[in-house]
Amino acid sequence: MGGWAIAVHGGAGVDPNLPLERQQQAKALLTRCLNLGISALRSSLPAIDVVELVVRELETDPLFNSGRGSALTEKGTVEMEASIMDGNGRRCGAVSGITAVKNPISLARLVMDKSPHSYLAFSGAEEFAKQQGVEMVGNDYFVTEDNVGMLKLAKEAKAILFDYRIPLESTCGAAAESPIQMNGLPISIYAPETVGCVVVDGEGRCAAATSTGGLMNKMTGRIGDSPIIGAGTYACEVCGVSCTGEGEAILRGTLARDVAALMEYKGLGLQEAVDHVVQKRLDQGKAGLIAVSNKGEVAYGFNCVGMFRGFATEDGFMEVGIWD
Ligand code: ASP
Repeated sequence: MGGWAIAVHGGAGVDPNLPLERQQQAKALLTRCLNLGISALRSSLPAIDVVELVVRELETDPLFNSGRGSALTEKGTVEMEASIMDGNGRRCGAVSGITAVKNPISLARLVMDKSPHSYLAFSGAEEFAKQQGVEMVGNDYFVTEDNVGMLKLAKEAKAILFDYRIPLESTCGAAAESPIQMNGLPISIYAPETVGCVVVDGEGRCAAATSTGGLMNKMTGRIGDSPIIGAGTYACEVCGVSCTGEGEAILRGTLARDVAALMEYKGLGLQEAVDHVVQKRLDQGKAGLIAVSNKGEVAYGFNCVGMFRGFATEDGFMEVGIWD
């Protein structure tokens, strides 16, 4: 066993013109979350508790696209989604269409622990949340001024956006030349900011968690990769994986499960499996992922401009980055 390891992400596909101040805010938040995870691991918390704890923190801060600060639907509402998986026993829980639960990741955890099911959505999920007594808040809590502005820009550009992308013909000169498209629609250079955390604890147990508001200006009812076990999130005995980027591309590539499958069936190492999946299973420019192995390794890969990310391992290694 190689000791504990933790990785966090705050979304893939960063706008290359992202203001320095925002880059610094993102790095500070990732560092704070890593430190939170590190102290939990030092106190011997199991991997599943650590991923939930860290993602709750990311959901509570409005900076990234999850919980407070979630991307908005075409109607200006929030429909959040999240999933969590414990590699120890391959248990999982997921939720979609969440409008009023302060921390969707904890609702996903309750689905895993306290319901007979793995995945609850929309009104049924919120009814379950009420029964479980989780903290509920009004729509205003989630909707930030930044996101209202971004939705307006997205509508003007007739584009479905990853959070904080700057639409074509808007303020970002580079974006106007961008040939990037999603499902045939032009989109800008972008900065999706879904969050995720993967952990292997000191006993070699892996876990993964992902939480998001989805895509800016998405259709109501749209479900992306983040709550889908095997696409946006996966954990088993050998690894934990969390993805971010264009959900439709991640779903097509079953990215998270493919990393695990390459390790389980082909005996690939963690970074090798991640590289293979990013190069062979993912359309260019679409997404990225973070991963840990039961040997205490961390790995990541992305094929877009950048990915907000941070890593730490028990031997003292720690790194936070955005660009390649
Ligand atoms: N994967 C998320 C989705 O498609 C977006 C993101 O990662 O930012 O909903």
